[in-house]
Amino acid sequence: MSKFWSPLVNDLVPYVPGEQPKMANLVKLNTNENPFGPSPKVVDAIRAELNDNLRLYPDPEGEALKDAIARYHGLNQDQVFLGNGSDEVLAHIFYGLFQHGQPVLFPDITYSFYPVYCGLYGIEGKTIPLTESFEINPDDYAQPNGGVIFPNPNAPTGRFLELSKVEAIVAANPDRVVVIDEAYVDFGGESAITLVDKYPNLLVSQTLSKARSLAGLRVGFAVGHPDLIEALNRVKNSFNSYPLDRLALAGAVAAFEDDSWFKATCEGVIGERDWVTSKLEALGFEVLPSKANFVFTRHPDHSGESLARGLRDQGVIVRHFNKARIDDFLRITTGTADQNKRLIEVLTGLV
Ligand SMILES: *Cc1c(COP(=O)(O)O)cnc(C)c1O
Repeated sequence: MSKFWSPLVNDLVPYVPGEQPKMANLVKLNTNENPFGPSPKVVDAIRAELNDNLRLYPDPEGEALKDAIARYHGLNQDQVFLGNGSDEVLAHIFYGLFQHGQPVLFPDITYSFYPVYCGLYGIEGKTIPLTESFEINPDDYAQPNGGVIFPNPNAPTGRFLELSKVEAIVAANPDRVVVIDEAYVDFGGESAITLVDKYPNLLVSQTLSKARSLAGLRVGFAVGHPDLIEALNRVKNSFNSYPLDRLALAGAVAAFEDDSWFKATCEGVIGERDWVTSKLEALGFEVLPSKANFVFTRHPDHSGESLARGLRDQGVIVRHFNKARIDDFLRITTGTADQNKRLIEVLTGLV
């Protein structure tokens, strides 16, 4: 605390990202990065952009990327909003679409950035408990609110809510914006983007960090009705006119152009995830059904904390949340085949 701080800074509770340890030879399975790198065409496109043009500001609207995303998803450009990672997109959503003097609804077990944005903007959040089996019950979201947001697949559970149930939540809230955070949708889920033309209150956010293996580039986007996009543009242009730099724009466009790389690497992650799942089950772990690039798992005889510590002692880093209901679980990112084998080898020694 300092006398120089704006008073509200005293009360901020920031998001805590998974650690990025500097040690060599770690099997790093804690932050849901993609084990396959980005498309080589992305790297080429970024290299081609490394020139004297860097003295010039980038396109503030990111037209080329909006166009690539719109074409990819069969939308118009005015249905697309771009941000510096989907975290920034989400921040603008909370600011621009969720301040209605009523609580914003999200699950009790979910992405921990949502309550952080509530704290930043003074928005009341109301957590809705997942069911006993860690599922979202659509009926729970038919109540007065200032907006609804949840990831699909959910994080850190990995569970996917089928599209008809997503639609039920959107349809039950015609006067509020429902945001589906689809950071992990490409690992076997089904996107709600197909519903945006039908529902003016539906906003879908996605990121290039996970399925397109570009967490280091910081590119995210949201799609929805042009009126929702206009609100986000107003917020963005009151905050930072150039959230995406020239390298990010060039790389992201190339990522959407190399669809075969995208599809092949998603399939690769899915195959590895399912291999890890079967091995964990053989070791006696309970594994929630996952449509993400990670699994959420617990063992009946070992605490999550002791397993996480045992893994770490042997150079395998996974995510453990010290939080009610899930403190027995580990969230394990799908790694390369070698990393996953090492994970199972170490766990075999621990259980
Ligand atoms: C990783 C993640 C994000 C943020 O992605 P960035 O685009 O890297 O900011 C958003 N939501 C969920 C649920 C995530 O897991």
